Amino acid sequence: MADTVRVRFAPSPTGSFHVGGARTALFNWAFARHHKGVFILRIEDTDRSRSTDEHIVQILDVLRWLGLDWDEGPPASGYRQTERFEIYRAHGERLLADGRAYRCRCTPETLDALRDAAKARKEQFRYPGTCREAGVPASEPHALRLKMPVGGQTVVEDAILGTVTFDNDTLDDWILVRTDGTPTYNFCVVVDDVTMKITHVIRGNDHLNNTPKQIACYAALGYEMPLFAHIPMILAPDRGKMSKRHGATTVEEFRDQGILPEALVNYLARLGWSHGDDEIFSPKELAEHFTLAQVGKAGAVFDREKLLWVSLEWIKAAAPERLAEVLTPFLGPALGLPSAAGAALVDPARLAAIAASLKERSRTLVEMAEQAACYFRPPAAYDAPATAKFWGPEAPHRYAVLIKRHLSQEAFDPESLEGLYRGLAAEMGLKLVDLAQLTRIALTGKTASPPVFQVAALLGKAETIARLKTALAAVERAKPPLGPKQ
Ligand code: GLU
Repeated sequence: MADTVRVRFAPSPTGSFHVGGARTALFNWAFARHHKGVFILRIEDTDRSRSTDEHIVQILDVLRWLGLDWDEGPPASGYRQTERFEIYRAHGERLLADGRAYRCRCTPETLDALRDAAKARKEQFRYPGTCREAGVPASEPHALRLKMPVGGQTVVEDAILGTVTFDNDTLDDWILVRTDGTPTYNFCVVVDDVTMKITHVIRGNDHLNNTPKQIACYAALGYEMPLFAHIPMILAPDRGKMSKRHGATTVEEFRDQGILPEALVNYLARLGWSHGDDEIFSPKELAEHFTLAQVGKAGAVFDREKLLWVSLEWIKAAAPERLAEVLTPFLGPALGLPSAAGAALVDPARLAAIAASLKERSRTLVEMAEQAACYFRPPAAYDAPATAKFWGPEAPHRYAVLIKRHLSQEAFDPESLEGLYRGLAAEMGLKLVDLAQLTRIALTGKTASPPVFQVAALLGKAETIARLKTALAAVERAKPPLGPKQ
C-alpha cells in the first residue's frame, strides 16, 4: 500500500446534508489528519436527474462551516464525476479489450421479463449471463457488463465490521456502462478510487452490499484494493432510521438551532467512536486520537440531550468576542425582527459582554439570543406568576425608592449596584431578594435571568431607570387586582 494515506468523502449532491454524511466526512477527515494524509472531496453527480449545483454549494458550505478542510477537490476541476466520463470510458474499453467485460445486447424488455419471472418465483433477479459468451459486435446497441467470478466467495476484511463474506452466486454480471454510454455508479466509484489512489474507503455501511461488486472490478482492472471501513448508521432513539419525524437531521438544521460547529463535530465524533471515557474533543484532539479500531460495530443512537450538553460545553469554552459574532444572526429572530435588523442593533463589544454573562446558561445560540433579547428592548409583558408574587401593595413605594436611589447612583458596575441594593435592603428592613426581584421583573419581565446587577450594568443607568419607571406605572395601573392574597 502507498505510504501516504489518501481518503475521500464522496457525497452525492441529491439532497440536504444529513448528519450521517457529516459524520462520514468527519471520520475521513480525522483519519487523514491523524495519519498526515490527504483528504479528498469528490462529488458523485452521475445521477444527473437528482444532482443539483445548489446541493454542491451546500456541501462545500457545510464542510467549511464544520471546519473539515479538504486537500483535493472542488473548486479544482476533475473532482466531479460528470467531468470524468472520458476516464470511465477508457477504463471500460480496457476491461473489454482484456476480456474482463463484455457487450450485452439484452433489451430493457427482455430484462424486464426476466425480472418479472424472478419475482413470480419469489427470487432475487440476477442477470443470467445471456451475452457473456455471445461475442456481441460493437455495431449493435449494447451495454457493457463486468464478468463476475462464478462460484466461491468474496471476502471483505472490513476495518470496522471485521470479515464479511458474500457468496459470489448472489452477485451477477453488473452493468459498467449503459447502452446510452453513461457509466454506472459502482463503476465510477471504483475508477475514481483507483485513479485518485485512495488507500482507505471509509463510508456508511449502506454501501456494504456494493463492496463485493466493486472488489470484482478492482480485480478485473488489476488494481490493488483499498482497505474498506464501513461505518454503522446513526439511529433514531427508537433504533430505526433517523428521519424528519425525530426532529432535525441535517447539518443546516443544527446550525440554525444555534449549535456551534465544534460542538456538532465533537458530538458526531463521539457517536460511534470513543476514546476512553473522554467526551469533549476539539477537532485537533480528535485528529490526534482518531483510529478506526475505536469505531463501534453497532449503530449509534442519536441523543439530542447529549448534543445539547456538548453544545453548552463548547459555548462555555468560546471566547465572548466569537460568541458575539456568531450570536448576531440569531438576535433578529429572538426579537421578532428580520435577521439584518437584529444585526443592525449590535455593538460588538457590548454584545461580547452580554454573551459572556449568558454563556454558562445557554445550550444553543438560539437560547442565548432569547436571553439576550432583554438587552435590546424592554419587556413586552411581565410574567404573570412573577407579578402575582412580587407586585404586592408595597411594590409602588419600593419601585419609587429604587428609582430615586438609582438616579443618585454614580458607579453603575455590578459590584457597586450590589452595594447599593444591600444598603437599601438593610435600611428598609428587607431581604436583598425582595428588591432585586422587583428590579429583575422591571428589566427582563421575568424572575429568572443572569445576575440582576449584571443586567442593570449592561443596560446602563438611563435604560435601567426607564424600565423601573415603566414597571412602576404598570404596577400602579394593575393595583389592586394583582395584589397578593392577604
Ligand atoms: N456517493 C455515495 C453517497 O453519497 C458515497 C459512495 C462511497 O463513499 O463509496 O452515499
